[in-house]
Amino acid sequence: MKRTVALLCAVGLLCTACGNADVPEGGTTTATTEGAQTATTTIAASATAATTTGTESVGVAGTTSAEVKGTVGRPATTTTTKAGTTATVAPVDVSTDNIVPFGTAKGTITATDTTFESEHFRFHIAANVYLVEGFAEKFEKLYDVMEKVSGLTFKAHSPSFAKLTIVVTRETHPGASADCEVGPAYAAGFGREVKVSPGDLFLGLSYTVIHKLAHVLQSDTSLKTFNKVLSEGFAEYTTYKVLKYLQQHDREFGALFSPADACVMYMDIADPNNLYKQSVQYWMEHDFPFEYASNCGYAVGFRLMSYLDAEYGSYTKWLTEYQKRYAYTGNSDSAQVDFDKQVQVVTDAYGAACYDGFYPWVKRHEAQFAGNAFTIADYRHLSQLIAYPRYYHSGFYESVPELMGMKYRDLCLSLVEYRHYLTAYKKVDDSRLVLRKSADVAVALYDANGKFLKATRGTLTRGQYAMEYVIPLDGVYYVKIFGSGETALNITLS
Ligand SMILES: [Zn+2]
Repeated sequence: MKRTVALLCAVGLLCTACGNADVPEGGTTTATTEGAQTATTTIAASATAATTTGTESVGVAGTTSAEVKGTVGRPATTTTTKAGTTATVAPVDVSTDNIVPFGTAKGTITATDTTFESEHFRFHIAANVYLVEGFAEKFEKLYDVMEKVSGLTFKAHSPSFAKLTIVVTRETHPGASADCEVGPAYAAGFGREVKVSPGDLFLGLSYTVIHKLAHVLQSDTSLKTFNKVLSEGFAEYTTYKVLKYLQQHDREFGALFSPADACVMYMDIADPNNLYKQSVQYWMEHDFPFEYASNCGYAVGFRLMSYLDAEYGSYTKWLTEYQKRYAYTGNSDSAQVDFDKQVQVVTDAYGAACYDGFYPWVKRHEAQFAGNAFTIADYRHLSQLIAYPRYYHSGFYESVPELMGMKYRDLCLSLVEYRHYLTAYKKVDDSRLVLRKSADVAVALYDANGKFLKATRGTLTRGQYAMEYVIPLDGVYYVKIFGSGETALNITLS
């Protein structure tokens, strides 16, 4: 399946050895991007629904009833296609009313290297970085949610590092195009510093900042570097819990990131039996092979934390226990003694049977770790979304429709911020914008003032991986999908 191929590529791009540098003695940092996923159109939420009344029935040429899904309104009827033949399609009742404009272009671009602070953060932003509205407030919100879901507390161990430092620089991976917006990221635990890229700042569905802040939270708790299974498992599982929490309690903010299911997908182990070939303690010491899981020990750690949370009611107790029993004293242990403590602390915290119960539990819960190739973002509780473009590895503007489906219910999408980003920040011509969708559903198009332009299903076209419906967006600032259903949706330059 081509979809599977695309997915594997995407996961391969994510594959990381984390750039976490939680080394009290001041270790070096390696740099990788995490939580960066594939190129995807970010869809962020805003408030207030626009009401509609009048309707317009729209058919599409050249489709059959078998291809029609996710439509609402009257039963299927026969219509005349452009080619003069007849085809059975399901008409959709589409409002012809105007909408109230929303999502004004409020993103700003740093003119020079910029430093500023908020309550818990100090920001160092390079020149020419796009900052979404309420940038610092969004970091503060993450800070609060991360403490809430983990039960841990961010705390500085030295007045020199009283605030968490966020460094944003433009640096790309080797081979990436120069205008790529994401690149290496790291967390330096002792220095309480996180480095990310412009595209990680609440754009492009990236959750890199959450994962990196989790490493700082871990370091704040124990001032300690752990093996990959424990440290990356902790960081990724904390990210998963944050995303879950936001999906339930703050959907508008949550829509800035990938759905929590994306974490599960990136932690996929192709054949679970490979996990059971060695003990988890062995995987802590030797790492989980890339051939078994593209994210290696992260995937084992994610399952271990899930197990501890589900069976023992805490996935963090090993961390606080470590600080209690084996706190850093300034004397270096040998590598083996240090590793033995890391293995021991899990049974210290959860009991001697803890490790033995892990694999049987995973076997019973394998289904919950089966990555969904068609990750679904659930936007049914949002009436309005603000789209942001994403610049990934090769610096393109689009998402891959097969990788990110979404559930919707009468959803209106604002392209105002998207166009502002393209023209003011990336200096590209936005007249070639097109919308691609996988489902045969009608949408209404509106101009910058919210004036109804027309309703359309788009032209059925062969896309990169599958057939898709393409709609030119020249002069279009809002797109509304009526009814409820599922579709992959992608805005790109033609
Ligand atoms: Zn990490």
